[in-house]
Amino acid sequence: MARDIYDDEPKEYCGLFGITNHRQAAWLAYLGLYALQHRGQEACGIAVNYNGAISIHKGMGLVNDVFSPDTLSKLKGNIAVGHTRYSTTGSSILKNTQPLLIEYAKGSICIAHNGNLVNSLTLRQSLEKSGSIFQTTTDSEIIIHLMARAKTQNLQESLIYALKKIKGAYSLVMMDNHTLIGARDPMGFRPLSLGKIGNSWCLASETCALDLIKAKFVRDIEPGEIVFIGRDGPKSVKPKELQSKDRFSYCAFEHVYFSRPDSVIFGENVHSVRRKLGEQLARENPVDADFVVPVPDSGFSAALGYSKASGIPLEMGIIRNHYVGRTFIQPAQDARDLGVRVKFNLLKDILKGKRIVVVDDSIVRGTTSKIRVRNLRNAGVKEVHLRISCPPHRFPCFYGIDFHRSSELIANKYDSLDKIRQYMDVDSLGYLSMEGMLGCLKHPHNYYCTACWTGKYPVMAEKKHGKFSLEVRCCGQGDI
Ligand code: SF4
Repeated sequence: MARDIYDDEPKEYCGLFGITNHRQAAWLAYLGLYALQHRGQEACGIAVNYNGAISIHKGMGLVNDVFSPDTLSKLKGNIAVGHTRYSTTGSSILKNTQPLLIEYAKGSICIAHNGNLVNSLTLRQSLEKSGSIFQTTTDSEIIIHLMARAKTQNLQESLIYALKKIKGAYSLVMMDNHTLIGARDPMGFRPLSLGKIGNSWCLASETCALDLIKAKFVRDIEPGEIVFIGRDGPKSVKPKELQSKDRFSYCAFEHVYFSRPDSVIFGENVHSVRRKLGEQLARENPVDADFVVPVPDSGFSAALGYSKASGIPLEMGIIRNHYVGRTFIQPAQDARDLGVRVKFNLLKDILKGKRIVVVDDSIVRGTTSKIRVRNLRNAGVKEVHLRISCPPHRFPCFYGIDFHRSSELIANKYDSLDKIRQYMDVDSLGYLSMEGMLGCLKHPHNYYCTACWTGKYPVMAEKKHGKFSLEVRCCGQGDI
């Protein structure tokens, strides 16, 4: 069987977009998802609301593959909810593609979810025992089933009832027959922004989606906040049970790797943060070299910072092919080697005989980085010094990022920096310290989740068969 060759990078699970009070809601949702494509490339969908009747189009593939001018022109309505999704193979089936549209006793409701619940197994079992029949294996659907159980017909009360029962990471964009809704979990793991374009309001995982449709960024949806946007504009609700008083858990890895550099998340521009991370990395891990070479694209901003702080010139030694998509090869081929070569080519004339500092955002298993180093050496590079703009990853994420199993993470396989260095075959290796990373971020340290580096989980996952149920999959798609 053919294999996908790009499975050595952490994957973000989802991008969300919503807009209300706009005649071309579906088109703007399409553009919004286009800007959020980096948050999920396996499936996407848009639901639109036309005078209370909701229609939906979704499919497997990139936004451009799933939507055509023809499909978009059929999506008529003035409220839209869009979702772009990543999931692992096997779970990546059309019925789990979002937004989920569910008709229930209280009307129609449509939900798009970014993040992972940590108590989905218990909730699902309990709902099934008492008669709920699930259409999907996503735990986003649990939220709707809980809303249906609320002993009220009121949308706001039903949603608050459901959100009080779930635990973990969720940014939500939803709509019923009349209202666009945005919500963020009490710890604020995943970003969600509120924007405005003319008389229309929109919600987006990242502000780059607002920029594309020329919407003005208004503010972040706050942790524990629910915003109901009807004809009169946004109405904010902050149920006291969903408020976290003295700490939050903004995902620090969104800044290091996932979010687009042109986005503003958690109150800061991502590129500016990454450049600061690179500067701090240079202060903590100096080395003599001829060039600083970024691993494109996510290592670029940090490399710029490293170059600025060290005084070593920046050079483009590694060129990325942006159009690879998923590439399948035969089992007999060396998948990783081909994968690295398909994705990255080297500027051999520039690199030959030089001492270079390669700046990357993270190392997961290390297999891809190791091949990249080998290719650099084959290209005649004299010295390779690897610098990573965050601390070593040792723990899995419960909250919506797909790392590999703990045992596969390179920082767990080897018990010292020097052993990792030897495995990678680099002349020197340096990671940014935890203090250094957090010192580059705007908010106090206790506003950030750092669990994949420290193992200190702000919201504990439920246990399954004595183990944490960590085989999390897509947006709310637990291991069920
Ligand atoms: S564990 Fe890591 S990737 Fe997951 S939310 Fe926390 S910081 Fe982000």
